[in-house]
Amino acid sequence: MTKLLYLDDSYLKEFDAKVEEVNDKGIVLDRTAFYPVGGGLPSDTGFIEYSGERIRVREVIKQGGKVYHVVEKSDIPVGAIVKGIIDWDRRYRIMRLHTAAHVLSGLLYSMVGVLITGNAIRENRAHIDFSLEKTDRELFQKVIEEANKVISEGRKVKIYYMEREKVLQTPGMIKLAGRLPPNIPVFRIVEIERIDIQPDGGVHVANTKEIGEIELLKIQNKGRNRKRLHFTVKP
Ligand SMILES: [Zn+2]
Repeated sequence: MTKLLYLDDSYLKEFDAKVEEVNDKGIVLDRTAFYPVGGGLPSDTGFIEYSGERIRVREVIKQGGKVYHVVEKSDIPVGAIVKGIIDWDRRYRIMRLHTAAHVLSGLLYSMVGVLITGNAIRENRAHIDFSLEKTDRELFQKVIEEANKVISEGRKVKIYYMEREKVLQTPGMIKLAGRLPPNIPVFRIVEIERIDIQPDGGVHVANTKEIGEIELLKIQNKGRNRKRLHFTVKP
């Protein structure tokens, strides 16, 4: 099992780790701050540094508890101590877009009780699918306006852990349509003060102020009960 350092510190940009495995899939370290693709978020990119040489990490994948850092080619021996370096500009934009997505979905949930059916964060933009029957441009505009107000207030984003029983008993916790994944006794919770609370494994900013300003890009009708909101964050 690779220890996932980003779970408790989204701001970790560099870290030391030991090489545990090198194979066709990539380099496995004992610990990593690289976020592996999943949960609607892209993976981090960056470098692994070893004895003065930098190897580009193109993608990061998690499989069966192990995190594979995908690289072009590597001569790093197993057991070596390396330094991981995250492409921070890219990661920080992803964090801002991700927390923005939570603000938007939390607001839409409290305003009209609507659930999310999917979401995708990219490096420079994001989209969320809402379980809405009508394409309501006015509603989305109002939500973004409200979201930008909340963002400028500087609400704290808290990360902590909660037992399954308590997660199930907390109102408003499950906004992703569908049930809680089975066989997980303790969940990592991401809470944006008085806006949103949900189990989540992704990277976030610590304060909504860091998001900047949400800008609506477009609204798409993806079928019955599936309206897609595209947005980005400025600057
Ligand atoms: Zn999330």
